[in-house]
Amino acid sequence: MLSFDTATFVTDLLDALVRIPSVNPELVPGAAGEAEIARHLATVCERLGMRVSVEEAAPGRPNVVAVLPGTDPARGRTLLLNGHTDTVGTAGMDAPFVPRREGDRLYGRGANDMKAGLAAMIGAVAALRAANVTPRGDVMLAFVADEEYLSVGTEALAKTHRADAAIITEPSRLALCIAHKGFVWARVRTEGRAAHGSNYDAGLDAIAHMGRVLAALERLEADVFPRRAHPLVGRPSVHASAIEGGEGLSTYPPSCTLTLERRTLPGESEAAVRTELEEIFAVLSRQDPSFHASVELIGARAGLEVDPDADIVRAVDGAALEVIGERPAHVGMRAWCDAALLAERGIPTVIYGPSGAGGHSPGEYVELPSVVSCARVLEQTIRRFCGTVMPCAP
Ligand SMILES: [Zn+2]
Repeated sequence: MLSFDTATFVTDLLDALVRIPSVNPELVPGAAGEAEIARHLATVCERLGMRVSVEEAAPGRPNVVAVLPGTDPARGRTLLLNGHTDTVGTAGMDAPFVPRREGDRLYGRGANDMKAGLAAMIGAVAALRAANVTPRGDVMLAFVADEEYLSVGTEALAKTHRADAAIITEPSRLALCIAHKGFVWARVRTEGRAAHGSNYDAGLDAIAHMGRVLAALERLEADVFPRRAHPLVGRPSVHASAIEGGEGLSTYPPSCTLTLERRTLPGESEAAVRTELEEIFAVLSRQDPSFHASVELIGARAGLEVDPDADIVRAVDGAALEVIGERPAHVGMRAWCDAALLAERGIPTVIYGPSGAGGHSPGEYVELPSVVSCARVLEQTIRRFCGTVMPCAP
């Protein structure tokens, strides 16, 4: 094992992973899904001496959980490294599963989002094994299904596994993401009164009343939200998603339904979004007692915010300083990701992964040197967070 080279290991593994189609079958009916890539990852981890279990998050949608057992779990902490195995579809790509090298770049579906992160996770453990180092605490690698659709993989994992901290190796350009936004989906309904189009004194136009709601939402966007910016993820936002109402040209519309998405700051609750909408309705019905609206919340995911002084943040910062020569920038993401599901279960979770571009588009690529740097930083992070037994300790 003296000849172990992290760069060769992660590059070869990434190449193999891109060759295994794992398009999410919920996004593309009939697509391969995660079963074959899960088998491959399980085999690689078994060869590294890890304890591997394949756990169905949903029928035919496996998670792989591989544990490098610690030498002294009572004194060492468990670190979870988590990455999703599914990818989006391949529309517009000629040979999506044939990795193509161009200089430092490797092109292919999933190269950046996020098979590079998976290769880096395993590369970190392989480097520890090659150095004959076993940390005190457990190292747990989770390869989860379905992040690109409903995240059933991480949801199942969070219910059944514990860790003292977690890193999701989604592409982050080697910056350390410690916050992301959440979202709330809502259905708003205005009530009107059906009447013949000539009967202006009997009809009540529910669509026009929804127009008042839309105007109020635009005022939130223009006047209120810009003043509520979060230092890492920016301001909250709201937009209309779909609208429906009306029955015929000569009928006053008796109801109108608007679905909307409100992107929330870390810490903003579903209840706060409901209150925000109900306050709009209250103002509108004071202005016009014939205005009636109600709201139903139909989905939500919380945002993420990790204490910048958390041990996991310090561990990654220190590891990157050692490996790369500088601490990573602390950043936030606008988009939601699986990290919040782990944080909700009390596991401090950050996102740290390689550099690339073109995720979810035909030109997807990852920068190979960043994958190697990521693996090395993860290896050092494991040593710092889980603890290592010094060979010459007294
Ligand atoms: Zn991803």
